[in-house]
Amino acid sequence: MPEVERHSFDVLVIGAGGAGLRAAIEARENGMRTAVLCKSLFGKAHTVMAEGGIAAAMGNVNAGDNWQVHFRDTMRGGKFLNNWRMAELHAREAPDRVWELETYGALFDRTGDGRISQRNFGGHEYPRLAHVGDRTGLELIRSLQQKVVSLQQEDFAATGDYESRLRVFQEFTVTDLVQDGGAAGVGAGRGGRIAGAFGYWRESGRFVLFEAPAVVLATGGIGKSFKVTSNSWEYTGDGHALALRAGASLINMEFVQFHPTGMVWPPSVKGILVTESVRGDGGVLRNSDGKRFMFDYIPEVFKDKYADNEGEADRWYADPDHNRRPPELLPRDEVARAINSEVKAGRGTEHGGVFLDVSTRLPAEEIKRRLPSMHHQFKELADVDITAQPMEVGPTCHYVMGGVQVDPDTGASSVPGLFAAGEVSGGMHGSNRLGGNSLSDLLVFGRRAGEGAAAYVTGLADRPVCSAEAVAEAERVALAPFAGEGGENPYTLHVELQQAMNDLVGIIRRAEEMEEALRRLADLGRRARSLTVEGHRQFNPGWHLALDLRNMLLVSECVARAALLRTESRGGHTRDDHPGMDAGWRRKLLVCRLSGDGVEVAEEPQPPIRADLLALFEFAELRKYLTAEELEG
Ligand code: FAD
Repeated sequence: MPEVERHSFDVLVIGAGGAGLRAAIEARENGMRTAVLCKSLFGKAHTVMAEGGIAAAMGNVNAGDNWQVHFRDTMRGGKFLNNWRMAELHAREAPDRVWELETYGALFDRTGDGRISQRNFGGHEYPRLAHVGDRTGLELIRSLQQKVVSLQQEDFAATGDYESRLRVFQEFTVTDLVQDGGAAGVGAGRGGRIAGAFGYWRESGRFVLFEAPAVVLATGGIGKSFKVTSNSWEYTGDGHALALRAGASLINMEFVQFHPTGMVWPPSVKGILVTESVRGDGGVLRNSDGKRFMFDYIPEVFKDKYADNEGEADRWYADPDHNRRPPELLPRDEVARAINSEVKAGRGTEHGGVFLDVSTRLPAEEIKRRLPSMHHQFKELADVDITAQPMEVGPTCHYVMGGVQVDPDTGASSVPGLFAAGEVSGGMHGSNRLGGNSLSDLLVFGRRAGEGAAAYVTGLADRPVCSAEAVAEAERVALAPFAGEGGENPYTLHVELQQAMNDLVGIIRRAEEMEEALRRLADLGRRARSLTVEGHRQFNPGWHLALDLRNMLLVSECVARAALLRTESRGGHTRDDHPGMDAGWRRKLLVCRLSGDGVEVAEEPQPPIRADLLALFEFAELRKYLTAEELEG
């Protein structure tokens, strides 16, 4: 058996973003010895980048808000493909999770009378996003970390060891899950019980085995498979791929969210996010003719909810009860498609975007107060003063709706001992996520997954064992990139992958292009098997990328295969060759599983929505989404 560093815990949480930290806190509070593993520095996760806020129907700014309205908005945003139970739990529990954050030390912006302030965001009927300026993610991570520290202090008082019950391992990358069941217990896609996780220290390249009967995946998204993205280097779909290789299934992978507003200029910053708060706080989109074009893009299903003229749209900010919302606040998929169409029609800016203007809408001091990060970002990176000039923006790959298929109440996957929460899980957002609904998702389902994992471990009669063969196999797989000679380097393959996904499985899709993408992915997969990594294991980014590439290729294949199969347009999946939404497809989930070295996608029925939740909608609205058979049922 190879010599590897070993640790033993009850629950391993892979990922230290909002979902991972909330899960770890819950597992520890349920008496589990818990470890948090993260690829980058502790505190540097996607969550920290979140700007706009956390969606929770607290009703602080408009008393008309409640969980039922939030549930309805979420289902509409996801075009009714959401797992309804997740959408229900999320809408019901989000307010408590926000309050709880304040008990951990968070301090949200306030209304005049001292309540947590809430801002408008696309697709939300009422002002709903609890926020801290445009740095909400930072406050969320800061307060979850503060809670981790306070639990560690309690543990010190009880045991003399701060890390006796909750320990963080940073700059550590998990490459494989280990399952019981002998030699094939690694990456075999066979669904044996979880026994642990294997990976390497980024700095030394040395291997570590974590033995634990339960793993919570909280690894975030997949954006680094696309060329233009708001995501950072860590988001290579590791958790999605780990789950697949362990035998779990992924759903909704065809739905990738392109945020309508990323920076487009200069090239070095292309894709960096421009928060939706700019539009929520009054910013408007204009094309190169100066036209406020979103009025031309209100889809039939939303016509009764969005203003069709500038006068009404502008009045809405002061009097939302008597006016319809501005169309700049349509769900993200609609706005991204509209921008794409304007640019394609030759009405874009010099650098291929459109204008987003807040400078003519709010006083300069107000812009700096409400949007300090945006002001700083544009000044520093593009030399644009957003208090005096419009921004140039265009769509950027932002979020994956698809992920591990989980039990809504516990976060359990189909693999015993494997749980998932946050962006790596699927179902909650259906075909399109509403802004602000991710941070609340992390807290609601992070807590539930931590609790689910603890309950699972408590109920185990015996602890699964990591076999020596399984560990040796994990080590062999991790070292494979060093074995080849004369192959290509991983950077070349990564650039080609990103280009292919961007051009062929991007915001607008058609069958021939996706078939071409699958051919290119197969070719990249073949070339990846013989790529060459130079040097040794000590801090070697080429080797790290080679291991990440294995995950990105697998997850990209899921996206492309599922997107090719779904012959309709819905949310974050737009088919040029199948432009309409098809009620028959709403009832189908595309489920990805590992098959040999590749991916197989099967159609499975979507669970029907519970009757009392359906009753929250007007019949006329349901008719836009559901089949006649469902409406009669
Ligand atoms: P993340 O926060 O992405 O954390 C993933 C963790 O997993 C990291 O610690 C990473 O190191 C670790 N990890 C990954 N792979 C491995 C591995 N192999 N081994 C070990 N560790 C690993 N949503 C909102 O609701 N409101 C907003 O205002 C908002 N603004 C956003 C702004 C930006 C710029 C971006 C990019 C996203 C924004 N989102 C927002 C989306 C939201 O931030 C993310 O969806 C969410 O933070 C994901 O959280 P998570 O806990 O699932 O994962």
